[in-house]
Amino acid sequence: MIQNQFYFSFVPCSSAGYGYCKWMFVSVILLLSFALFNQCTQDQISTYQKIKSNADSVHVINTHEHQHWPEEYGYLHTRFYHLIHASYLMSDIVSAGGQRLDMEPLDSFSLEAHWKLNGQALDYTRNTSYYSHFIKGFQKLYDFDEMYFTEENIPALSEQIEKNYADYRTWFDASFRKAGFELMFLDQYWKPFNTEIDEKYYALVFHINPLVMHVSSHPAKGEKPTGLYEKAAEEGYTIQSLDDYLEYCDHLFHKNLDHKAVCVKNSLAYSRSLDFEDVPYEEARQLFNKPSQKLSPGEAKKMQDFIFHWIIQKSIEYDLPIQIHTGYLAGNGNNLENGKPVKLNNLFLKYPDAKFVLFHGGYPWTGEYAAFGKMFPNVYMDIVWLPQISREKAVMALDEMFDCVPYNKFFWGGDCGLIEETTGSLEFGKEVVAEVLTRRIERGLLTEDVAIDIVKKIFRENAIEVFKLKERLGREF
Ligand SMILES: [Zn+2]
Repeated sequence: MIQNQFYFSFVPCSSAGYGYCKWMFVSVILLLSFALFNQCTQDQISTYQKIKSNADSVHVINTHEHQHWPEEYGYLHTRFYHLIHASYLMSDIVSAGGQRLDMEPLDSFSLEAHWKLNGQALDYTRNTSYYSHFIKGFQKLYDFDEMYFTEENIPALSEQIEKNYADYRTWFDASFRKAGFELMFLDQYWKPFNTEIDEKYYALVFHINPLVMHVSSHPAKGEKPTGLYEKAAEEGYTIQSLDDYLEYCDHLFHKNLDHKAVCVKNSLAYSRSLDFEDVPYEEARQLFNKPSQKLSPGEAKKMQDFIFHWIIQKSIEYDLPIQIHTGYLAGNGNNLENGKPVKLNNLFLKYPDAKFVLFHGGYPWTGEYAAFGKMFPNVYMDIVWLPQISREKAVMALDEMFDCVPYNKFFWGGDCGLIEETTGSLEFGKEVVAEVLTRRIERGLLTEDVAIDIVKKIFRENAIEVFKLKERLGREF
C-alpha cells in the first residue's frame, strides 16, 4: 500500500491541475517524513538491541553481592513473602505504610493474610525502581509475564518459589547461569570472619567493618569477649594493647589473602560518618589503654579513624582495592549525611597508591561522586545498586559520568541477598547501560564499537583487570 502511494506520488505535474499537483507534493513530504521517522525509530531500536544483546552475551563479573543460603535467613519454607522480606522492596513497602514481619508470623501467615496486611502498600510501590528490578528477576527466571504482582497471580508464583527453594542449591546454580553470571564477589557482612566460600560462584571479600568499629569497644578485664575479641580468643590471640589489636587485624588480612580475597570492603556509613581523621599512632595507643566505656564519642571515633587509615596502608601493602559504601543507606532509618562522598577527599589525597572503589554512585550526590573519578587516577566508580535505587537517576548520572570519567574505571554489582533479586538487578543494570550508550551514539558522542567495548569493560573486563582476578584466583578469564 505504501509502495503504491509512493509510486503515484511521482507522477509528473501536468495539465491535470495545480491543486492535484499540490496534493501530491504534500503526500510525498508526509510519506518521506513517515519513512524517515520510521527509519530513525528502527535505527534507535536496532542500536539499543545491538548494545543490549552484547551485554547479554557477557559472562558477568559481579563485583558486589550478599548472597545467602535461605537457611542463613532462617527460612525453612520459602514463599513469595519471604523473598519480599529479604529484598530492598520491603523498605519501600514499609515506606508506603506496610509492615515488616518477624520470622514467626512470616512463616505462619497465609498468602491471603499477607495480602491483607501489605497488599495495598505493595501496590503503592508499583512505580519504584525497587519494585521494577525485583519483578524483573521473576520475569527472567520464572517466565512470569505480568507487569505487577497481584493477589490473584501471587499464589501460583509462590508455589513455584517453594518448589525451587526445596532444593535451592540446584535452583541457584541454574539461575546463576541463566542470568549470565560467571563470578560474584561475596561480602558476608552477616558473618564477616567466615573465609570458607563456594569458589565455583564466589570470590571472597574481606569485610572490615568489625576491625574498625570494635577497636573502641574492647572488653574490660574479666568481661566475656564478643565480636572480634571472641574470634581472636578462639584463634589463640590475646588483645591487651593496640599493638595486639593490630597484630590480630594483620592476621585477618593474611587469612583472607590465603583464601584468595580480591578486595577489602566496608559499609561504615551505616554506623558512622565517612570522615576519617588522620590520628597519630601514639594518641591511638593511649586511647586503647583507656577502658572503652570511659571513651567519649569523639575519642571512640578517633580510634576508629586510626584503624581505617591503618587498613588503607595495609591494603596498599597487600595490593587490595578498597570498596567503600557511599551515599544513600538501605532500610528505613539512618543518617544520610554519613555517606556523603566528599568526606573521603582527604584519603584520596593522602593515599595515591591505594585503589578506592566508590559504591552506589554516591546517590544522591552523584555529581560529587563522579568528580572524584575524574580527579583521582586511583578512584573507581562502581555503579552497584544505583539503578535499583533510581533507574532514571542512574541513566542521568551514568550519562554524566561518561562525560567525566574514563571507562576503564567502572564496575557493576548487584548487592542482593537471593538470586531472583540479583538477576533482576543485572537485567536492570544492562538496560540502563544500554540506554545511556544508545543515546550517546545518537548524539554523535560515541561509535557503536566503542559503546560495545564499554559494555564489556563495565560488566566484566575492568573487574578482571583492576582486581587482578587471574593472578589472585589462579584461573583464566
Ligand atoms: Zn552491599
